[in-house]
Amino acid sequence: MNRPAKAPADLHPLTDTTANERLYRYESSVKQAFDNIVPVLKQIASERCDPDFVDRAQQITAQEFGFELPAHILDTAWATGLDMRRLFAWCVFETYRRVSDEFFNADPLGGRVGNDFQAFLQQCGFHLMDITPCADGRLAHAISYVLRLPYGAVRRKSYAGSLFDIENTVEKWIETELMRFREGIPNRADEPTRYLKVVIYHFSSVDPAHQGCAAHGSDDEAAAREGWERLAALRQAIENGFCCGASVGLLLIGMDTDTDAIRVHVPDTNGYCELNQWLDVAKVHEITRGLSAAEARTRIAELVQAHMPGSHAGGAQANGMGASSTDGLSDKGMLQLIARLIENNLSQIDYVRHFHDGHYQDIGHAERFIGTGIGFEEIQLRNLTYFAYLSTVEEGAADLDVGIKIFTGLNVSRSLPVPIVVRYDYHGNVPGARERAVAHCERIAAALKARYPALCSDGMLHCLRAVRDCDAGTPIELVGSSLEPVTGGMH
Ligand SMILES: [Zn+2]
Repeated sequence: MNRPAKAPADLHPLTDTTANERLYRYESSVKQAFDNIVPVLKQIASERCDPDFVDRAQQITAQEFGFELPAHILDTAWATGLDMRRLFAWCVFETYRRVSDEFFNADPLGGRVGNDFQAFLQQCGFHLMDITPCADGRLAHAISYVLRLPYGAVRRKSYAGSLFDIENTVEKWIETELMRFREGIPNRADEPTRYLKVVIYHFSSVDPAHQGCAAHGSDDEAAAREGWERLAALRQAIENGFCCGASVGLLLIGMDTDTDAIRVHVPDTNGYCELNQWLDVAKVHEITRGLSAAEARTRIAELVQAHMPGSHAGGAQANGMGASSTDGLSDKGMLQLIARLIENNLSQIDYVRHFHDGHYQDIGHAERFIGTGIGFEEIQLRNLTYFAYLSTVEEGAADLDVGIKIFTGLNVSRSLPVPIVVRYDYHGNVPGARERAVAHCERIAAALKARYPALCSDGMLHCLRAVRDCDAGTPIELVGSSLEPVTGGMH
């Protein structure tokens, strides 16, 4: 994966090369760990006739992966043949567990604490930044890489097609206001800051007709329009439901999943944006690359300002909304925040140019496993996980079917099983929450078995169950797997 370094002259003056190196080391080490599994298992399979096969297999995996294979799968190899599918799934799950543990124990991205960003956000007139990217695995790195934000300081809630749940967001808004009112966290309720909701839709510059957002049939305009409709509906819900000028800030961002360049639909002074007008950060990169860092910052601020839709006489105002967001301070703050996001994205544009030859080679799906349930804060890497967030299989059936279809192409076509991690995060300070989370995982695992019976009985779908106490900040806890010895497992 190492690419020859380009001359620094190619880089933007605002690009953080140290962060780029660090982020690349993390991305390549994690992906390498998953991508090593097949070649190493092939090597093991080639030695299975040896009399000391089990010892030899353990030696190879200890050396290559840093862990040992489960004895209950290896021990039966002499009689029933080596079950490579089970071994493959087991290795994927073990690799996931190790990556997840490292994330929670060592914070390799350094994003858990985001005090500086939180302070900046409040200075811009916002107390919480709540971001909804599409659940597509190609946006899983949107926070930590594309926008370079500390994941601990923003709320990420992904949905297929970036179509977030309005009621759930209203609930979060209420919870946030209550925390401000009762505890002054993150700031006091009488401070004039707002909740900021951001939607990130996506498109593909390399293959726009096929590799855009599946939930919108690769129609960028529809993705942007429906994203904005959700945002506007949220604002209306808050303004209708709560008096005293209650409102939210809204921001619509598009993302090219091939280059990670974003485009920002800069809102006007009333908080409205134009769907066909945006500031393309790839262009900003081009325009400001030859300047000094200070000049580039000034130019970016000018470009953001220039991309605000002009004051429409009666245009946005005719809708009768947004009156509470007209104070000059929050407008200025929004522009400041946008300028920061753009500056951050410049580093990511250079990251993809430098380490991935201008655009990613895997422009389509290349996820390593499916993640379903609720949680997965640790997944901050592109194309590692296909997400199907759900509380019940019925509710998320369509997303899951899409995931199974994707993995039929990625894995089943190569005779490899579909690895699914069923995960449920819970609040440990709520009595009985852990038990309910475990029961939830079990219900989802059973429902998966019922929905995909052929894949399960052929050993082509395996499932790991994990829960996590998100209040305690501890790693995940494994609570079961379809790979357990026959007596205790699902099979
Ligand atoms: Zn999408």
